[in-house]
Amino acid sequence: MKKPSPGRPAGFSTRAIHEGYDPASHHGSLNPPVYLNATYSFDSIAQGQQRFAGEVPGYIYARVGNPTQSVLEQRLASLEGGEAALAVASGIAAITALLWSFIQLGDEIIADKTLYGCTFAFMGHGLSRFGVTTRFVDLTQAGALETAMTPATRFVFFETPTNPNMRVIDIAQVSRVTHAHGARVIVDNTYGTPCLQRPLELGADFVVHSMTKYLSGHGDLIAGAIIGGADELLTVRKVGLKDMTGAVLSAFDSFLLLRGIKTLELRMARHCESALILAGQIESHSGVVSAYYPGLKSHSQYELASQQMSAFGGMIALELHGGYDAGVRFMDALQLAQRAVSLGDAETLVQHPASMTHNNYTDEEREAHGISLGLVRISVGLENVEDLSADIMQALDHATG
Ligand SMILES: *Cc1c(COP(=O)(O)O)cnc(C)c1O
Repeated sequence: MKKPSPGRPAGFSTRAIHEGYDPASHHGSLNPPVYLNATYSFDSIAQGQQRFAGEVPGYIYARVGNPTQSVLEQRLASLEGGEAALAVASGIAAITALLWSFIQLGDEIIADKTLYGCTFAFMGHGLSRFGVTTRFVDLTQAGALETAMTPATRFVFFETPTNPNMRVIDIAQVSRVTHAHGARVIVDNTYGTPCLQRPLELGADFVVHSMTKYLSGHGDLIAGAIIGGADELLTVRKVGLKDMTGAVLSAFDSFLLLRGIKTLELRMARHCESALILAGQIESHSGVVSAYYPGLKSHSQYELASQQMSAFGGMIALELHGGYDAGVRFMDALQLAQRAVSLGDAETLVQHPASMTHNNYTDEEREAHGISLGLVRISVGLENVEDLSADIMQALDHATG
């Protein structure tokens, strides 16, 4: 990438558009080519041997790397402020490839008590079959982590803000406590995106993403990423990706992600602006018990969110009076917003965990995850905010009227 001017570091969007790619090396083609190939031919046996031995850079086989994917990875590393990045086939592939690369029999993971459902299933049910224990702790409570750490703790894992209930966790504080015990910190930055929050700069060791969400931004692919130190990322590529999961991202999806990321800063500005307006309106509706949005002064961690995020994101959770039935009435009354899981798309997506993602949980399990019957999650899209407001307000009237 060409530097804007001597001594001036390139800003976020400049890097999101240019980092890791020079059209001059590709016939002037403004967009990176999509390399549709499984394998790479070597000039000589000597060259092949050196590549396999890792003595010279170069591609060998597309499960391990692809030039389109490499541009994406350079861009991701730059945006998150990490030495290296690895793009993989899904958010869950990112989390599993990273952990499979380093954990061993007898290790412990400490995770926050609120996690994306499949992350919880992997740690709580999947890993326990292989002799790795995960303990779920409320990481918003200073002191809870210190008490929970043992000599076997290898990783501390959390999302912030958490999915779906928007709790905020202090990245710098958790990193200090974790490092004092010789363990490593992984932050799932899917909700924040590198545009609003950069966990590596606050002390975390690894960032993981579901790129399916804001980084893609268009709901047209499934992808994930890991960002961190160069040596460790090389291990994740050679072990977690190549041997343990094989969860490679396609060159075409890499291309779509490069396209989506060009507008990340623009899109996030609109998501944040609309979500702040809507959260305020939702909070003052009489049918709403509370609205959870870190940009509301009423949010119990507003101060912390203001310090570690540059803006508050596009996700809102709200608690309706009238429990499950009110939730269903609200959902069915929506006209413009879509009833759907996932998030971070141009379209506003609304989900009611009690009837959708957490439908098969017992009441006790839902309670333990902080998911009440009247909880609704909104991923605020890029539509006209007045249209969204009108739709959500009429659905709230309908739910509780
Ligand atoms: C969606 C999501 C995941 C899982 O990502 P996939 O791309 O669906 O595999 C992980 N963490 C968070 C916070 C998510 O929202």
